[in-house]
Amino acid sequence: MKIAVFNTKRYDRQYLGEANEPHHHELVFLESHLTAETSRLGHGFEGICAFVNDELNRQVLTDLAKHGTRFIALRCAGFNHVDLAAAGDLGLTIARVPAYSPHGVAEHSVALMLTLSRKICRAYNRVRDGNFSLEGLLGFEFFEKTVGVIGTGAIGSKVVRIMKGFGCKVLAYDPYPNPDCVSLGAEYVSLKDIFKQSDILTLHVPLMPETYHMINAEALKFMKPGVMLINTSRGGLVDTNAVIEGLKSGQIGYLGLDVYEEEAHLFFEDLSGRVIQDDIFARLLTFPNVVITSHQAFFTHCALQNIAETTLQNITDFQKGKIPEKNLVSLEHVEKS
Ligand code: NAD
Repeated sequence: MKIAVFNTKRYDRQYLGEANEPHHHELVFLESHLTAETSRLGHGFEGICAFVNDELNRQVLTDLAKHGTRFIALRCAGFNHVDLAAAGDLGLTIARVPAYSPHGVAEHSVALMLTLSRKICRAYNRVRDGNFSLEGLLGFEFFEKTVGVIGTGAIGSKVVRIMKGFGCKVLAYDPYPNPDCVSLGAEYVSLKDIFKQSDILTLHVPLMPETYHMINAEALKFMKPGVMLINTSRGGLVDTNAVIEGLKSGQIGYLGLDVYEEEAHLFFEDLSGRVIQDDIFARLLTFPNVVITSHQAFFTHCALQNIAETTLQNITDFQKGKIPEKNLVSLEHVEKS
């Protein structure tokens, strides 16, 4: 099948190319993000392969469908960037990679926690500068602290396991409690209680209308002063302006982000020679107690291999008319789940 693969970097081309060997699809790699301005590059392709920051809104999907596209292969788990109603109206099939590195994302979340709690970035820079003073590096231990895990699916449940290993008390919030987390000793509580009791809060929920800005000024009021907040899920879960106010007042003591609401204009690109135009993001970078990585939690060898293999298998399965249910994305599937 002929596929236009949007938004590719060197590593995408390498892993997708290798995974394609047994499938023999015709992959055309494009560097451009998929947007209303670039969708014409996908004209004439039966299949489109897209990533997290590509725009799959009604306008883009309509243009692609009008020019021969029938299938969209998402090489990611999240599908908040896809207009599913439009895809349904246009008869487009959408598939995703539902789980490729839950351990990798969970481990990265904990890496952010430790980087913040032990001030590793400051220590790293200081020692390289020949400054061996400990002033300002006082940390705290996780042992017997309370960690609140919001969303206990594939990734959140791995975070529960790791934090139990540190000897933490783990609280959880999820509309669908996970028996594995209960067996690990996590205690499910209400959202308000998890906000009130946690020393560390970590988000592992999908971005949906109900979860948009779930961390806002109102939620911050319930939290312990000096709380650590970690978000490796989706930027839109957090109201960044509210969080900046929380950092300024000290209500938030530590912030670790792998995702940001407006990341599409920043992340995955080398902008080191340019002036950052996003003033809110630039403000976040000024805090000594904020660590930001650019959506790299998934970025491991194992994950790239899994993503590439499942994406190529989804394309082959689409041709055979038998994509596994768990990989399909449609309004119907979302309503059922
Ligand atoms: P998952 O579907 O396995 O788990 C999500 C959990 O969230 C489910 O248990 C669900 O019941 C729960 N949930 C739904 N609505 C909720 C709400 N309002 N409050 C609390 N919980 C709610 O998903 P996952 O694989 O664990 O991934 C979680 C998120 O991580 C994804 O949605 C994706 O956005 C993000 N992610 C980020 C990266 C990265 O590189 N940073 C990589 C993969 C996934």
